[in-house]
Amino acid sequence: MWRILIVEDSRTNMLLAVEVLASAGHIPLEAVTATAGIDIARREHPDAILMDIQLPGMNGIEATQILKADPATRNIPIIALTALAMKGDEQRMLEAGFDGYIAKPIHYKEFLAELEATVLRLHGERSE
Ligand code: MN
Repeated sequence: MWRILIVEDSRTNMLLAVEVLASAGHIPLEAVTATAGIDIARREHPDAILMDIQLPGMNGIEATQILKADPATRNIPIIALTALAMKGDEQRMLEAGFDGYIAKPIHYKEFLAELEATVLRLHGERSE
């Protein structure tokens, strides 16, 4: 059971991600803006963050850079959640500081499997 912060401004995607995580026994934390997400990350120190890229105001790349520059939050795995499923994007996201990448649209089983595998891999790397 993990506490996973979802930073996502699309209500449809948020509801789906929350439902998938909760149904698997995880605890979803929700933020609809990058600044709210940063506040929650600092306060709650979740096990992982799912970060949308296109957000109103500050975008997900800027928010990730801020969290990765802060010693208090830099060890939290941040997984990009983006519709930009184009060749080359994964490398671009990793260069921006993201630890992983999940392409939207969210498909229930694939999303959960990919998320859990990614979080386990990242926490394994952290503890080595
Ligand atoms: Mn968005």
